[in-house]
Amino acid sequence: MSRIPVAILGATGPVGQKVISMLQDHPRFRVAELAASDARVGKKYGEIVAWKNEYPLSPEVAALEMRPLLEVQSHCVISALPAEVAREVEPALAGRGHLVSSNASAFRMQEDVPLLVPELNSAHLSLLNRQKTQGRIVTNPNCSTVFLVSALAPLLELGTLQHVSVVTMQALSGAGYPGVPSFDILGNLIPHIGGEEAKIQEETKRILGSPDRAATFGVTVHVHRVPVLHGHTVAAHLTFKEEVSIENARASYARWQERFPGLFEIHTAPDRPQPARDLHPHDMRVHVGRLKQGDNAHTLGLVALGHNLVRGAAGAAIANLESTLDYLEGR
Ligand code: NAP
Repeated sequence: MSRIPVAILGATGPVGQKVISMLQDHPRFRVAELAASDARVGKKYGEIVAWKNEYPLSPEVAALEMRPLLEVQSHCVISALPAEVAREVEPALAGRGHLVSSNASAFRMQEDVPLLVPELNSAHLSLLNRQKTQGRIVTNPNCSTVFLVSALAPLLELGTLQHVSVVTMQALSGAGYPGVPSFDILGNLIPHIGGEEAKIQEETKRILGSPDRAATFGVTVHVHRVPVLHGHTVAAHLTFKEEVSIENARASYARWQERFPGLFEIHTAPDRPQPARDLHPHDMRVHVGRLKQGDNAHTLGLVALGHNLVRGAAGAAIANLESTLDYLEGR
């Protein structure tokens, strides 16, 4: 079977680079076209990119000539554009018939656009039918939200979640390139990332709700930028209406591991998961550890970790493209 050509927008940023790296050996998709800002048009990708990936850039991709954003020809598009650029470009491409899988936040909360984690809320794909354009837009969540919602989903089977309190510790590559100045972050921690807390609150409830109705549990979030290169860690404390147990929580994760092999890595060591020890460069797993009961039978605590550029961005956009194509083709 010939591989489906994909155009990557924002191809020079850390997310765009990770999309390229993950598609270089992909069984279903291939990198066909690349675009970034206007100043790049006509230049060879290999000559303009500051390649920061663990794996080498293939000579075929390095030789691709950068195209204008709105002149890509491939039906399938993965967008790793800043939100303000995505807001203009993605609907224009959907209007021309392209299927756009977006990393940007621009349309995540738009009611006819799925905010998709395929294993968790594939029912939201039905929202695609409400889009009036010839093409379609599908989005993936904020790079901390995805680890939180994935860790929460199996636990929603234990009872009625009333509230989740969340503390994130987010890696530098989540801030793009060159990102946070080293002067501000080395040996330091910054307890603020603009707009991030609201995104995590709203997106979590949207993803874990039905296509038309957000979940109603409460979410409190504190975010932090930390001097870690890759990997967002999320500590969460959950309060349920009913009594819940660690044994039932473990059993629920085990059932989900059977249903979705590769979605979870469940850690039992007291000092895991850790970004520098447990993540690999194309890691799509959501690592869950430190599962514990609070000081009463209605509460649970956990730590979730994942690769922000992979499950939190590039890998998520690729998985969403696959799920959306399958859905639209009736598979
Ligand atoms: P980035 O470092 O800011 O890279 C942005 C890309 O967009 C670059 O290729 C840049 O091209 C291009 N671009 C910037 N301004 C442009 C313009 N006016 N017109 C056309 N292209 C333009 O961002 P990133 O970290 O790779 O993230 C990309 C998107 O994914 C963002 O929306 C971000 O919020 C989202 N996201 C990021 C992460 C993460 O962990 N980093 C996770 C989830 C979602 P030039 O090189 O030509 O300037």
